[in-house]
Amino acid sequence: MQFLAGGTTLLDLMKLDVIRPAHLININALRHEFGAIEADADELRLGALVRMSAAADHPAIRRDYPVIADSLRQAASPQLRNMATLAGNVLQRTRCPYYRDTSWKACNRREPGSGCAARDGVNRRLAVLGTSEYCIAHYPGDFANALVALEAQVSILDARGAPYTMPLEDLHRLPGSSPHIETNLPDGHLITGFTVPAQPWTRRSLYLKIRDRASYDFALAAAAVALDLGPDRMVRTARIALGGVATRPWRSHEAEQALQGWVLDETAARRAAEAAFRDVSAQGQASFKPELGRRTLVRALLEAAALPVSGDEDATP
Ligand code: FAD
Ligand code: SF4
Repeated sequence: MQFLAGGTTLLDLMKLDVIRPAHLININALRHEFGAIEADADELRLGALVRMSAAADHPAIRRDYPVIADSLRQAASPQLRNMATLAGNVLQRTRCPYYRDTSWKACNRREPGSGCAARDGVNRRLAVLGTSEYCIAHYPGDFANALVALEAQVSILDARGAPYTMPLEDLHRLPGSSPHIETNLPDGHLITGFTVPAQPWTRRSLYLKIRDRASYDFALAAAAVALDLGPDRMVRTARIALGGVATRPWRSHEAEQALQGWVLDETAARRAAEAAFRDVSAQGQASFKPELGRRTLVRALLEAAALPVSGDEDATP
């Protein structure tokens, strides 16, 4: 069963014959219930059916959670952002070319047990973190990387209508030996929204996205960064997630720990980047990605440290 929201991923994949849902349920009428953006002193609440453009342009999100607004503004095109929803964006599929082209028989994600054409094929855009021998496909989205960095929770209704929540970090699965099971969301469970806790680090945050074209392109590497800095840029807390380089939205606890308690200069940023890519596994054409990912993270950290954030004069250079 599939839910039809904006349709900008799902209808593409149905036309390509990659997904053939037995049941298709249009959920757009639920926007009255799950289509609001609410922000207070404790948290930001985003309805599942909020359009990407509405969240990207929302004044409270731009001011207090800029990493979220940045990640949405740099995703897709204006037309797509006006159509596509936040939940649909989080649940978009990989752009691995062999997954999307059914003339290729070998794709474990599309046909379990069929093999993986990408391992020895066109794999320049694919993942270097979290891969398995069964699948090296990248997670292509941007918004979920910002959410995972800010420790968002996903609100869900099960098939009987009972609500529950799950950390966004637990929503997407590693491919392992079953890449066709992409998330921990059971069939028929509906995402109703996302909650992001307000924390001292959400204001000093940004999303840096590196891509082949300056607009309308998926990330080759991206970093979602949020910092709480003390005097002289000493890192009290860092929250870091990587995009474009991993099989799912990739929280880097290793990079966060490498920064904790250190003054955030270029040396510290580079140390964090080394930690983030320590367990890298680069295949063929993607061998440039670990270094691109490290440089992206170093730049994101230094740019975030230099942001002028009101009420945080200690850390302003
Ligand atoms: P749909 O296509 O309607 O649904 C997608 C999936 O989510 C389906 O499986 C559907 O069943 C499921 N779903 C939807 N809502 C719910 C719900 N509430 N609960 C449970 N399941 C649900 N994205 C980026 O992040 N960055 C980019 O740079 C980028 N570039 C793009 C370029 C192009 C040319 C295109 C076509 C897309 C691009 N995208 C990019 C992806 C785009 O943002 C997604 O297609 C879009 O966000 C999906 O949202 P939707 O509402 O249209 O989802
Ligand atoms: Fe399929 Fe994954 Fe291999 Fe791509 S990388 S061909 S999605 S199994």
